[in-house]
Amino acid sequence: MMRQFFLTLSQSRPVETTVSRVGPVRRMTRRFVAGESRAEALHVVRALNADGLAVALDYLGESVADPDEARAHADEYVALLEAIRAGGLNSDVSLKLTGMGLDVDEELCYHHVRRVVELADRCENVVEIDMESSAYVEATLRIYKRLLQEGFRNVLVAIQAYLYRSEQDVRELIALGGRVRLVKGAYAEPPDVAFPHKRDVDANFVRLMRLMLSPEARAQGFFAAIATHDEAMIRATVEYVREQRISPEEFEFQMIYGIRRRRQRELAADGYAVRVYVPYGTHWYPYFMRRLAERPANLLFLLRHVIELPGRKSA
Ligand SMILES: Cc1cc2nc3c(=O)[nH]c(=O)nc-3n(C[C@H](O)[C@H](O)[C@H](O)COP(=O)(O)OP(=O)(O)OC[C@H]3O[C@@H](n4cnc5c(N)ncnc54)[C@H](O)[C@@H]3O)c2cc1C
Repeated sequence: MMRQFFLTLSQSRPVETTVSRVGPVRRMTRRFVAGESRAEALHVVRALNADGLAVALDYLGESVADPDEARAHADEYVALLEAIRAGGLNSDVSLKLTGMGLDVDEELCYHHVRRVVELADRCENVVEIDMESSAYVEATLRIYKRLLQEGFRNVLVAIQAYLYRSEQDVRELIALGGRVRLVKGAYAEPPDVAFPHKRDVDANFVRLMRLMLSPEARAQGFFAAIATHDEAMIRATVEYVREQRISPEEFEFQMIYGIRRRRQRELAADGYAVRVYVPYGTHWYPYFMRRLAERPANLLFLLRHVIELPGRKSA
């Protein structure tokens, strides 16, 4: 119920406008968001890289309805890729297609994404495409496959284990030799498209992880990123790669900035490739609400923070 509550709130523009102005809430978002500016985000990347962690930088922004805003969003990714190259940083970029204008026009969105992917290719970098709600899955995969057909190998797409269709999608993407980030799924989906129970989502996650790391997938040049904070999912992956003698360079773990920081470093120390998804920008509201939906206990953390602030100021 709490999950549903936060996910519904995450789509409310009036609540966004109000909440985004509340100073203590903005400060609280720092747990999950690197900062509002590119410079702050790059500072965080440098620190994570120094700890042996790779990064995927995400410029926050989604559901863009204005073509100029979509272009400005793409421009930021261009500047970001150039800054990553200039700084010699180990960071992919990750984007949402609705930030690139998918709601305005699919062709316009493709144009912007292609521009970013082409520059990333020249920079020997990778563009990761987040998966949004089920209404966008078909268009997202269409755009992803079109980029593959154009010969771009430096693009990854996220696939959500909670969707019934995902096994078929993963099989197709393996045949195409793609790159996939496996996640559980962060949106409110009806039971006719997604498993309603966590145990079924978890079972599908393990099934898809095994499929993505199978000898057949690796023979196709397919690359798997296993993105989860769930210890049971991490253990199942570690067991499978040991059993199959898959070397740690052949896949990566991904986790979100601010979540299970110690575990990220432990996995890296054990020799696994670990990438941290680091968002930045001013449009943090829906992203932040989805993080609260995943773990309502984070709200208590927020409230404690808000309540304690006056005391902190006088201390
Ligand atoms: C790198 C990365 C990229 C992602 N990209 C996408 C995407 O493109 N599309 C999409 O739909 N979803 C995406 N997600 C979100 C994902 O779908 C899940 O909603 C999220 O990862 C929570 O699922 P979980 O696998 O961590 O397991 P869960 O079963 O939700 O959680 C397992 C445990 O992890 C910890 N945990 C999980 N979430 C939080 C949190 N917010 N705060 C603190 N602790 C937490 C808790 O200890 C919890 O008990 C991404 C996740 C990651 C890690």
